Amino acid sequence: QPKNKVCIVGSGNWGSAIAKIVGRNAASLSNFEDRVTMWVYEEIIEGKKLTEIINETHENVKYLPGHKLPSNVVAVPDVVEAAKDADLLIFVVPHQFVRTICSTLLGKIKPTAAALSLIKGFDIAEGGGIDLISHIITRCLKIPCAVLMGANIASEVAEEKFCETTIGCRDVMLAPLMRDIIQTDYFRVVVVDDEDAVEICGALKNIVAVGAGFVDGLGYGDNTKAAVIRLGLMEMIKFVDVFYPGSKLSTFFESCGVADLITTCYGGRNRRVAEAFVKTGRSIKELEDEMLNGQKLQGPITAEEVNHMLANKNMENKFPLFTAVFRICRGELKPNDFIDCIRSHPEHM
Ligand code: NAD
Ligand code: 13P
Ligand code: CA
Repeated sequence: QPKNKVCIVGSGNWGSAIAKIVGRNAASLSNFEDRVTMWVYEEIIEGKKLTEIINETHENVKYLPGHKLPSNVVAVPDVVEAAKDADLLIFVVPHQFVRTICSTLLGKIKPTAAALSLIKGFDIAEGGGIDLISHIITRCLKIPCAVLMGANIASEVAEEKFCETTIGCRDVMLAPLMRDIIQTDYFRVVVVDDEDAVEICGALKNIVAVGAGFVDGLGYGDNTKAAVIRLGLMEMIKFVDVFYPGSKLSTFFESCGVADLITTCYGGRNRRVAEAFVKTGRSIKELEDEMLNGQKLQGPITAEEVNHMLANKNMENKFPLFTAVFRICRGELKPNDFIDCIRSHPEHM
């Protein structure tokens, strides 16, 4: 019985935290090859290559400092080299980089490979709509792609604090493989077949988190933030209902739905930077560069991608929270206008 080889495509904050789990599981499970490759977008840290630092110290000193990765996780600077023999490709890069990576990998991977995307975000599609990241992976690489989304702040997962996650996987043959490489006694997996809704939850909650950061920056209290979270949830449900009909309401009650909204709106990077944006009046880009040490925000770009579609379909007024977040990030509205934008929400009519 040939063993499954795993490649982690990405090594940021979440990529490194998941590498800790996947590395340990691959080593202990007999149906997985112990060695796990991890593609690292190479950079030089104090004169030394990050891949070399990771392979010598087993620590991603830039994106997940203070945590050891299992020594069977091997950092590889060339994505084709990292991915070429893999049976399972775990995609975990900031979403703006996925298309370039897929075109680099085209024709260079095993045709029988499968993918699992941990990427929260969308891309703009031709014809005025949006593309799901997992659909881009499947279309570009011609392999199936399941998704994993949940209330999973990377640093807390790396600290092995108990939490849950959601895997969306329609293929009943692949689902156990995906679950086994991910699940631990502190990281509990629920698999559902509602792939698209799982992924859309993961992408859209980052827009809501930016709104939560705005109300924090404006000095509103917990009631206001709870209202933003609830209205955000209602817009997420409506979005799936309008654009991806046939999805299940129950998916919003999984970790990828309500739970991820809560954790991100209290503890996430999108919230933190949005709060600073209100308090300092500086640009999101500047604050991202200054506050996150190379980590990337997904909320503001996702708001733009979603608006591209809502504007095209003349539906901005049906999604006032998503629309307000987009306009405030763009500077078309002031953070102070946020509450007025959601005061007469369709939910209140
Ligand atoms: P990150 O925010 O730490 O981003 C930094 C990574 O991007 C680094 O590995 C860096 O090398 C890489 N990078 C920079 N420029 C690049 C380029 N031009 N091409 C390719 N890569 C480049 O990344 P992350 O936290 O691992 O997030 C990846 C995905 O996981 C995102 O969609 C995010 O929403 C999602 N996610 C993150 C968390 C979290 O707590 N960090 C939790 C759940 C999901
Ligand atoms: P942030 O990118 O806002 O930190 O959110 C992380 C996340 O997705 C937690 O599940
Ligand atoms: Ca093994």
